[in-house]
Amino acid sequence: MDIVRTVAALREAVGEWRAAGHGVGLVPTMGALHQGHLSLVRRARSLADRVCVTLFVNPKQFAPYEDFAEYPRDEAADRATLEAEGAHLLFMPGTDEIYPPGFATTVSVAGLGEGMCADFRPGFFEGVATVVTKLLLQSLPDVALFGEKDYQQLQVVKRMVADLDIPVRIVAAPTVREADGVAMSSRNAYLNAEQRRIAPTLYRTLISVAEAVTGGAAAASALAGGRDSLERAGFDRVEYLELRDAETLEPVTRLAGPARLLAAVWLGPTRLIDNTAVVSRQGRNGAESRTKT
Ligand code: AMP
Repeated sequence: MDIVRTVAALREAVGEWRAAGHGVGLVPTMGALHQGHLSLVRRARSLADRVCVTLFVNPKQFAPYEDFAEYPRDEAADRATLEAEGAHLLFMPGTDEIYPPGFATTVSVAGLGEGMCADFRPGFFEGVATVVTKLLLQSLPDVALFGEKDYQQLQVVKRMVADLDIPVRIVAAPTVREADGVAMSSRNAYLNAEQRRIAPTLYRTLISVAEAVTGGAAAASALAGGRDSLERAGFDRVEYLELRDAETLEPVTRLAGPARLLAAVWLGPTRLIDNTAVVSRQGRNGAESRTKT
């Protein structure tokens, strides 16, 4: 696996692949890699001849009071993991390479980039949209992989790519979970033993609220019950628990089509997010009711 740190070197490496007729897959990450990230790398390998992983802890997607300085970083382990996983190229730019002095542009996605996480993380989606636009234009891949774990982010990226005519296919990958259901996340490393014991309740609650809604419960009461369960389980704060249209992310009061149940909670100093699909009883072809992740 080659490692490059400049946009020029990235373009040269991808240019050589192009000249050889190879298709290119991109997996943007902030490092501290876990099996969730690696599932994206594997999927990229199955879709493209050459895979570039980017590792950049993007300062623009952290508010000043957030965990940018503490965000877990382990470049040596990440390099070894990606090597073993068969990634072909690792792009690890410094902050000045991405945001040189004078950098002044922000990409902002209205609607999808508002509400839920945006209400609690000001500037987050603008930071994500700006850096993802840059990474896509720097490497011009055929396909780029994003996790459903960050569901609102995924919808923002899809909208942005469509709106800006960026010639790339965005592929979503399902959330990879620990055996007890906790969604893998680099931030899980912050949890102490007691918090880690509480953490699985988030996904369990999402599943039970999703089942209630699928079973015909009114969204408002199912969501209120879900909030109660989360608070009783010991989460310190429930930022949001929302039922939204799976694509537009518009609020859903009565289940009509594919929906998504999304939540953000705090455990001590750690913010966790998770989500699950909610499918109506009729399903698309009159199929039996089900919820899936
Ligand atoms: P991050 O390093 O947290 O910015 O994540 C990089 C990419 O990995 C994003 O597309 C995430 O949605 C995805 N990702 C993070 N955690 C998981 C997970 N548990 N399962 C699947 N994808 C994930």
